[in-house]
Amino acid sequence: MPSPRNWREIPARYRLEAARCRGCGKVVYPARRACPACRGQEFEKTMLSWKGKVVTSTVVQVAPTEFQMEAPYAVAIVETPEGARLMTQVVDCDPGAVQPGMEVALVFRLIRREGHGGILCYGFKAVPAA
Ligand SMILES: [Zn+2]
Repeated sequence: MPSPRNWREIPARYRLEAARCRGCGKVVYPARRACPACRGQEFEKTMLSWKGKVVTSTVVQVAPTEFQMEAPYAVAIVETPEGARLMTQVVDCDPGAVQPGMEVALVFRLIRREGHGGILCYGFKAVPAA
């Protein structure tokens, strides 16, 4: 069943909307109540670049049911030029070839179908930078 959480996350997942701390400038994604760096609670909306670098990655061999058809696949923590870190699937390449430091582009893709109605959930994935 499509969850309220899914709707709430749309600005972040569809537009890579993040939050910049007014206290120290740290960019957090997704937005949260308190800055992990300075505990500040005032943020302004900011957009992330659709690119980044792999910080760390792993290859998922045994996937949750909804992603079984895609296994094995690479999941990575990607850091954008703004300093935000996000977890994403890395596609369009050999999962074993994904390494720290690899430049990636973030692209808008179908993530999964949700529920019996087959509601399509979109979001971002990473692909090797051209
Ligand atoms: Zn801060």
